[in-house]
Amino acid sequence: MSSSTTSPTLDEIVALSKRRGFVYPTSEIYGGLANAYEYGPNGVELLRKIKNLWWEFFISKRSDMLGLDSQIILHPRTWEASGHVSSFTDPLVEDQVTHKRYRADHLIESWLSKHSLDNPPVVESMSVQDMSQFISANNIKSPDGNPLSAAKSFNLLFETSIGVVADESNKVYLRGETAQGIFSNFKQIVDSNRVKLPFGVGQIGKSFRNEITTGQFIFRTLEFEQAEIEYFFNPKDTDWQVLFKDWQDKMWQFVTEILGINPDKLRWRRHEDSERSFYSKDTYDLEYQYPFGWKELWGIAYRTDYDLKQHMEFSGRSLEYIDPLTQEKFIPHVIEPAVGINRLLLMVLCDAYRPDAQRERLVLELQPKLAPYQVAVFPLLKNKPELVDRAKTVYQLLQNNYRVTWDERGNIGKRYLSQDEIGTPYCVTIDFETLENDSVTVRHRDTATQERIKINDLEGWLQDKLLR
Ligand code: ATP
Repeated sequence: MSSSTTSPTLDEIVALSKRRGFVYPTSEIYGGLANAYEYGPNGVELLRKIKNLWWEFFISKRSDMLGLDSQIILHPRTWEASGHVSSFTDPLVEDQVTHKRYRADHLIESWLSKHSLDNPPVVESMSVQDMSQFISANNIKSPDGNPLSAAKSFNLLFETSIGVVADESNKVYLRGETAQGIFSNFKQIVDSNRVKLPFGVGQIGKSFRNEITTGQFIFRTLEFEQAEIEYFFNPKDTDWQVLFKDWQDKMWQFVTEILGINPDKLRWRRHEDSERSFYSKDTYDLEYQYPFGWKELWGIAYRTDYDLKQHMEFSGRSLEYIDPLTQEKFIPHVIEPAVGINRLLLMVLCDAYRPDAQRERLVLELQPKLAPYQVAVFPLLKNKPELVDRAKTVYQLLQNNYRVTWDERGNIGKRYLSQDEIGTPYCVTIDFETLENDSVTVRHRDTATQERIKINDLEGWLQDKLLR
């Protein structure tokens, strides 16, 4: 197939996701809920595969890494210690006519992309006051063309309360990131495991942010899954710059080799000094070229000993580490690579999207290890019991080792088209020749070519192709 090299639009990705059961709008029957999406039968498979690959690569296959599953609702002091209660904010402006709310930084970025200034400001470094001034000096309007209010800080933490009385004393937060559960468990992890610095703790779990920017599909949602690592080390023994670079290489390797993403669509962006948190010594974003531009996929920051120190101060408990050899007592430093699984999934969908030049046939060229189904089995005709029975035997045989789907609807061409859009690498068809010589037609997703394979050789053939 001569495939198109044009990148997909976000609308194309949204349409495919809905049509093929990857991602649905949340509560669609009630008119939807902004910034909330469900993962359908194929989406949940893809999500699980990405999570499993992440866990295997960063936790299971490393002797210096441990896993954790901490709670979504933690003690509320956690978020005071971490700084989220006071400064986990976005700059917000309001359309003075429609009262719709927008991120001031996003409106400025969009304005800058359409106007060329000699010295454009670095939006990430602007304060809320800078943004208000810039908006009024340049007469920036809302997307509906109306005047905007001054920018205000808006806290992203979701609040709720425990028990029947919803007052201040019962107030808790849905976690805004998974990382704080790692810091608050640091001592328990060290005391209950045979670990020695340097070592890391990783976890995957839901985080919640009261995001107001709409229209970025699953890139920015209220509820999302984070995969975060805190890698603890003694700065006297470990050169943080070497360690930082090593983690950057691992992130790059995971994205390009394990997920097979095109490196031309990836780049590093270093945070400006003014953009970085005061405690961070260095921060980079690994960016992917999404249909709406280069955006943060994965962040990595050297957070020094800030978080453990804060939790020591707020909890009154020591979170120091005692070196077993030297007996040196100190607070470890950390490097934090943090990614959203949903952003990885969106990248995987965008990167695998291959329409043909006429945009008549679409193939989702997922790596076989990511495809929701590895094989599809079809009887050529559904009203021929001898074909259906034989196909069922092949289906059951392959089910022992592969994720297999069955399809007998419509004509064979349509079945191929639907498997192509799901990303199933191989389709196996049981036809009349099967009844004569025990061979099946195997069709390759990416080339649409076909070959005949003996049923007895099928498992070995697939193993060779899929489990390499
Ligand atoms: P952004 O600047 O895009 O809002 P961030 O810098 O606030 O992201 P971090 O706090 O560094 O994000 O979170 C770590 C990772 O979690 C991000 O790199 C991203 O992959 C993911 N993430 C953050 N917010 C969201 C969200 N609302 N929806 C989906 N994924 C998210």
